[in-house]
Amino acid sequence: MQEQDSTATAAEPPQTDIYCEHLKKCLMNICRVIQNTNDILCNISHPSVCSEVLLSSRGTDYISEVLEVYRISKRIEGGMRALRVSDDSLWLMLRDIELLWNNLQAFLSLCPYVLQRLPPLSFPVCKSDSRLSDSIQCLQRCCGVCLLGERQDEAGSRDGMLMYRENLYHITCANFWINCVDLNLPVLHCPKICSLCVPEEIQAAQDPTKDI
Ligand SMILES: [Zn+2]
Ligand SMILES: [Zn+2]
Repeated sequence: MQEQDSTATAAEPPQTDIYCEHLKKCLMNICRVIQNTNDILCNISHPSVCSEVLLSSRGTDYISEVLEVYRISKRIEGGMRALRVSDDSLWLMLRDIELLWNNLQAFLSLCPYVLQRLPPLSFPVCKSDSRLSDSIQCLQRCCGVCLLGERQDEAGSRDGMLMYRENLYHITCANFWINCVDLNLPVLHCPKICSLCVPEEIQAAQDPTKDI
């Protein structure tokens, strides 16, 4: 991060702190979900019973949901690269998630059929956006959960986004948040120094639907 004008931003926490605290919460819960699934499968003593559980339609649906949660961690990774987040603890958490996922895949390899039925494991390729300044990305143009900008997600058409109360979210990110983290979707505000956010009063004045 570039040094910011301390007089103008004294009351605002640095933007990286806002990002990091939020991402930590996301990654902790992603870890928990994948860990729980590993624990459940680990506690099934017979591989044949494990296969049976995985092959049931509920089992397959459950694994598909866990896969979606894992995909969010890959989007977060893309967002972290775009935001140039250097917090070591976050990168360590991503590594833990990767290890947990590898472990889970070992269970899934018992059931090639389940692996075949899972949606393809494609991940967003993070594109850098020349319109963004070096160190600041506007939070209002990112998914409110994974913080990946809508234009940075090449797989965006597959992972649809929705607008809720003027904030953007990937549908799968919003589902994850509501089911695994909190009933209220997160709303992160840019610090006042963000020049990309259009102040609300200007937005309202420009809104052509306002008087309809
Ligand atoms: Zn902004
Ligand atoms: Zn997202």
